[in-house]
Amino acid sequence: MHHKLLIRALFRLQTTFLAILLFSACSSVIPSAEKLSRYEFTQAEMGLPFRIVLYAPDQLSAETASLAVFERIKQLNDIMSDYEADSELSRLSRTSGGGRAVKVSDDLWRVLFRAQSLARQSGGAFDVTVGPVVNLWRKARREKAMPDPALLSQARAAVGYEFVKLDSKKRTAELTRPGMRLDLGAIAKGYAVDEALKVLRERGINRALVSGGGDMAAGAPPPGKKGWRIALAPLDVPNPPPARYVLLSHHGLATSGDVFQHLEINGRRFSHIVDPRTGVGLTDHSLVTVIARDCMTADGLATTVSVLGPVDGLKLIEKTPETAARITRKPDETIEVVESKQFKDFYDEPQTGR
Ligand code: ADP
Ligand code: MG
Repeated sequence: MHHKLLIRALFRLQTTFLAILLFSACSSVIPSAEKLSRYEFTQAEMGLPFRIVLYAPDQLSAETASLAVFERIKQLNDIMSDYEADSELSRLSRTSGGGRAVKVSDDLWRVLFRAQSLARQSGGAFDVTVGPVVNLWRKARREKAMPDPALLSQARAAVGYEFVKLDSKKRTAELTRPGMRLDLGAIAKGYAVDEALKVLRERGINRALVSGGGDMAAGAPPPGKKGWRIALAPLDVPNPPPARYVLLSHHGLATSGDVFQHLEINGRRFSHIVDPRTGVGLTDHSLVTVIARDCMTADGLATTVSVLGPVDGLKLIEKTPETAARITRKPDETIEVVESKQFKDFYDEPQTGR
């Protein structure tokens, strides 16, 4: 008796619950613009603050989506970190010089494949095999002393994108030189924010902006807006040029420069970006912003243009479809700004207020 009642009650409860579920499912499939609210989440991932701004019909779907995004970023860090000894990337690096091709995951494949094409396009200005050299510069930054030239030339022997052999059919990678160390620091963050946006999209959340450090991927604009309004990072000099804004949707934006990470010795400033062809940290004080269809492209190109400099850098940008760049430099006392032709299409005009 009691049991039957209980079961009936439970059953009723279940149907009500199901109805609620169905209802919320429907409403999240066809969200009307006015019912969406803005939600924001920030969490440290990959040693950086990752920020998600999204429009969702309710708190629950916003929160569960953000948790899924942070999970995905964590997963990507476990694959691509060069700090963690047991990441897939570090394990791959340890096979270098062993004469063996290693099967790589889909995520790592996509990033390595893109990195290699960017390396070829840039004549090696972009090169994810810079790990051994970057490590010496990291140590130099910690100790505030120039890297040992002997160690530097030794490290350079293990740098060269042509020592990475990718097999597209088998999806394997082989590192042909001993002592190689891959470093995806200039491209993995872009891929991570692209993937973050994808996770949101799969959950029906299209109006979103995800950023990691200063690199970001924008989906559809906020309701009623033409895009996400982004302030471009200023060059850290006295009296920088006035702040500029761009309007972004369905694009990625990345900034590279020596503003946050550099080593200063005798008034010379060495960037954490190195020229793989010389093994030396860049000394050109610059800030490069690239906009592209996705943030992996923008991230990789921003670093590449930093290495190539304004002339060759902009040439590469003009050659690469659907990309735009802005370079701010301070070669001497004056601040110099150069842009590719397309960059102004992204400006948020007219500039109102400050
Ligand atoms: P940030 O990390 O400040 O966003 P970048 O996207 O330009 O800047 O990435 C810089 C990182 O990329 C460095 O810290 C280093 O790990 C790696 N790197 C440095 N020089 C190069 C290079 N020439 N090509 C590819 N990766 C590089
Ligand atoms: Mg980059």
